[in-house]
Amino acid sequence: MTAPRLEIDLSRIHHNVRTLVGRLDPLGISVTGVTKATLGSPEVAREMVLAGVTSIGESRIENIEAMRLADLRTTMTLIRSPMPSQVERVVASADISLNTEFDVIDALSAAAGRQHRRHGIVLMVELGDLREGILAEDLSSMVGRTLDLDHLDLCGIGANLACQSGIAPDATNMAVLSSLADSLEARFAITLPLISGGNSANLRWALSGADVGRVDDLRLGESILLGRDPLDREPIDGLHTDAITLVAEVIESNRKPVRPWGEVHQNAFGMTARPDMTARPELPGEGDATRAQVIVALGRQDVDPDGLVVPDGLHVLGASSDHLVLAAHRDGTPVGTELRFGLDYSAMVRAMTSPFVTREFLRATPDAGPSRPAPDLRPGGSRACAPPG
Ligand SMILES: *Cc1c(COP(=O)(O)O)cnc(C)c1O
Repeated sequence: MTAPRLEIDLSRIHHNVRTLVGRLDPLGISVTGVTKATLGSPEVAREMVLAGVTSIGESRIENIEAMRLADLRTTMTLIRSPMPSQVERVVASADISLNTEFDVIDALSAAAGRQHRRHGIVLMVELGDLREGILAEDLSSMVGRTLDLDHLDLCGIGANLACQSGIAPDATNMAVLSSLADSLEARFAITLPLISGGNSANLRWALSGADVGRVDDLRLGESILLGRDPLDREPIDGLHTDAITLVAEVIESNRKPVRPWGEVHQNAFGMTARPDMTARPELPGEGDATRAQVIVALGRQDVDPDGLVVPDGLHVLGASSDHLVLAAHRDGTPVGTELRFGLDYSAMVRAMTSPFVTREFLRATPDAGPSRPAPDLRPGGSRACAPPG
């Protein structure tokens, strides 16, 4: 089998979705499964839908188009503000988009008119993280102008925290979102069926027993794929953290001197190694003259090496474009040996988007089965705010 390859265990992803849906459903919160870190994998998206997400969220229109071509029939939300140059494609393939700019919303309406479709809008509110979001004081006028457009449905409002500045969702900022929803409904005599509270970083708040207020949907990616809470990367109780692993192959295995020799200049990535200063007591063989060293055919073109969880008995010494160099506790790892690495979010995204890394889909855990009565797989079936044209 070819390497490097991502092994994606769909049954573990299924379990993670089912577990999160099961915890949030009693709170009246549905789950939008976010696929962006998988390059919009239709296999992963389909598994998420089977396990109970009510829609798929994706940041790239190319990935939404690919999932449509793969005949994935569910509500699809573009979770990054559309580029003005892509509004036609957004309206053609996405049911809903998250928005902050009136000019874009206006262009989406015009495109929807030309395509004889309707498009759903979620207005994103700035709650302090300083990534996307309309300032609260500007929201009312944005709602008024959006409601004036002919070919759009205002689905609701949303927020995104913990991405740019690491601001955590809490009772205070989430209460602001809920009260904005209430006041907009009162002021414009409308109903906002979708209050999209945030991403995986919202889980701790949502599951804390706090009043979730008007929040009725969360957009979850990392928690589903890696089973971790992005606030501190701790494993989330009851979830698999190894649904996605990276397998790579040993291409050199040798006993080598612990210290490099010769005149020291910058290495390939601009760092100056200082052989006399680099003693790292945690590494095997640091006090010895030689140690077992393994080179794996894996580099910065394949993965973010800083985000790898290496197998027991191995330690990363360094990585260049194509080589991952590891110190080993034991001699005798034959070339051709496949090693399996865990991934953090950064390593996963890089591996998923590298043309050198293939994917293999597995079902290692036999517990997968639909968590709910068969999900509604009609296009746009679950959220009524924007029936696809
Ligand atoms: C990436 C993203 C998400 C999902 O975030 P996770 O931390 O992976 O759950 C949700 N919403 C928006 C707007 C995003 O960009």
